[in-house]
Amino acid sequence: MTEPLLRVKDLVKNFPVKGGILGRAVDQVHAVDGVSFELDAGETLGLVGESGCGKSTTGRCILRLIEPTSGEVWFEGRNITAFSHNDLTALRRDLQIIFQDPYASLNPRMTVGAIVGEALIIHGLANNRRAFQDRVIELLETVGLNADHARRYPHEFSGGQRQRIGIARALAVSPKLIVCDEPVSALDVSIQAQVINLLEDLQEQFGLTYLFIAHDLSVVEHISTRVAVMYLGRIVELASARDLYVKPLHPYTEALLSAVPIPDPTAQRQRIHLQGDVPNPIHPPSGCHFHTRCPIRKLPLCSTEKPALRKTADGHWVACHLRG
Ligand code: SF4
Repeated sequence: MTEPLLRVKDLVKNFPVKGGILGRAVDQVHAVDGVSFELDAGETLGLVGESGCGKSTTGRCILRLIEPTSGEVWFEGRNITAFSHNDLTALRRDLQIIFQDPYASLNPRMTVGAIVGEALIIHGLANNRRAFQDRVIELLETVGLNADHARRYPHEFSGGQRQRIGIARALAVSPKLIVCDEPVSALDVSIQAQVINLLEDLQEQFGLTYLFIAHDLSVVEHISTRVAVMYLGRIVELASARDLYVKPLHPYTEALLSAVPIPDPTAQRQRIHLQGDVPNPIHPPSGCHFHTRCPIRKLPLCSTEKPALRKTADGHWVACHLRG
């Protein structure tokens, strides 16, 4: 068996909630609660869930942009959660991120050429000015921009173009894995498809591996090899994209899928409206986190016992006492 490119084991991230006059930690937000998965080279894992479910925190813990509370992240067979600051600098060449907001993630005072080429300087990847300029132009052309754009500033570009600049910046160091953190959710629907197509082309061209984070199942449907669904810090279902969309097992996935529009106007899908809001992650519900909203819950089992993420006979993973 070949080693997966990325292995995440029991990842936990709690954020302190500070209060009182002394600003001491009085509680904690359970943002990521024991997340485990593997990612093979060349595949795309879609990580999906409502806002606040911990998917972006998971992505940032993997990159160590924020430190996990516990758990391990293995990349190419090395435990990167144990890496020193110096080891991490070298690792940044292999692991990159594309941010959600192309407006906030680009420094408005830097030219596009300087933004895209910054990592070339940090990692010593351009020996002289000419090599730097040639590489920046190559990167811009790779993402559908051109040499003239290098002299301009981010505010002169549309949202879709800015996201292309962010992608060129991530590609500069020839990474192996890119965490795409909701890269299209701030863009118009028509532009979203262009950016997703570009990411797919780049994956084929450069053999990239993606962790693609989104809050909407329709966005990850075409780009993902497999999809993991998160709810309140836990993965509740993980399957091949085809299996997940055709025969979802977890009631939360069913509810998310029921909100995805079907292109065929004659087809019918009954919308499942979940009761209540997502509970507060400071005090998540006991047992199955989803039991307060689950249309098929069985009490007291679901409110007292945490369902393990189990593998079904056909390779589908689900965390539910009644399914799978
Ligand atoms: Fe619903 Fe119970 Fe399954 Fe949780 S374990 S999803 S509450 S049936």
